[in-house]
Amino acid sequence: MNFHYKALPWNIIFAAGARKRLPEELEKLGYSRALVLATPNQADTGQEIVSLLGDKAAGLFDRAMMHVPGETLDQATAEVKRLGADCTVSVGGGSTTGLGKALAFHLDLPNIVLPTSYAGSEMTNLWAVTRNNRKVTRRDNVVVPTLTIYDPELTLTLPPAFAAASGMNAMAQAVANAAAEDANPISSVLALEGIRALAHSLPLIIAEPGNMDARAGALYGASLAGAALGTGTTGLHHRLCHTFGGTFNTPHAETHTVLLPHSVAYNAGARPETTHRIAEALSVNDAANGLFELAGTLGAPTALKDIGVKQEDLDEAAAVTVEKPVNNPEPVTRERVRALLENAFHGKPPAPV
Ligand code: NAD
Repeated sequence: MNFHYKALPWNIIFAAGARKRLPEELEKLGYSRALVLATPNQADTGQEIVSLLGDKAAGLFDRAMMHVPGETLDQATAEVKRLGADCTVSVGGGSTTGLGKALAFHLDLPNIVLPTSYAGSEMTNLWAVTRNNRKVTRRDNVVVPTLTIYDPELTLTLPPAFAAASGMNAMAQAVANAAAEDANPISSVLALEGIRALAHSLPLIIAEPGNMDARAGALYGASLAGAALGTGTTGLHHRLCHTFGGTFNTPHAETHTVLLPHSVAYNAGARPETTHRIAEALSVNDAANGLFELAGTLGAPTALKDIGVKQEDLDEAAAVTVEKPVNNPEPVTRERVRALLENAFHGKPPAPV
């Protein structure tokens, strides 16, 4: 065995109702003027957190947006300065967490995060800002939240269809890390436990959206998947997803959901032991088919043609995927990627290509 594992400075509280501990936790950290961040959709939740904080709230900025546009960051920066905030409290999904991270980097401002979706961004040191239509992503430990409070009650308002897509996106982070070429053994432990928790909880959420144990299990699984993404590595699967997102503008979570079973089947021959461990975590015999069937159970898409991809896009997608080398267990060739995409386009069950 030969590896290097460098943990990130995580500081996590997980409990139903834990958001109510926010004023006391802020006090312990020595902060007294928090700017609460939210998207327009979750302005009410943001306002609830402002009320909870009482005199420890500096105000609410409810204009967080997907991919952290530069103008949004500039407006939030102005608010931090105008209000004299000494920390941020992000309440929301990956977009809101992302704004808190960008402010942490630019202003050296401590960020506290209350995640409400399964993006897992709070567990990574990845952050991005989009200016002039270009999203620039970096890794910096200063953006890792000073404190993350997971309160599963905050996820009860997540509509089941978004929970399914967001949950399968988390699943992809975990599976791709466990199955990567130079998979880190410690990140893999986190990833496999994340896969287990997500596979168990997501179908329960669809069947019974108010099931608190299922909501907590999915949030826990998403946290572990984020931890694996934060300290691990990726391969063909992420290359494929970036190709479709970047070149054809397909929806992020749905693209992951459709392609994941196929990229697992692609690598299964080269990583039989890992693929078996993923199958075990999913409680199925075959990892790729298990993921395909799970997407079906959740009512998530299983075909590229259903998420805006056209047959004539496939040749270009295969070419873009192999433009730069990919660190992947199986050699990545244009012909084999094209065959994978043909299966994924029609929503056929995954098969080695
Ligand atoms: P999002 O944060 O954009 O949320 C989508 C919508 O759902 C928003 O309007 C949000 O307010 C709403 N929402 C979230 N939780 C809700 C809840 N509990 N109830 C009701 N509405 C709710 O989407 P996302 O999928 O959470 O995050 C996607 C973004 O995060 C992307 O920009 C992605 O690049 C980024 N991301 C970053 C990392 C990282 O490590 N830096 C990891 C994963 C995702």
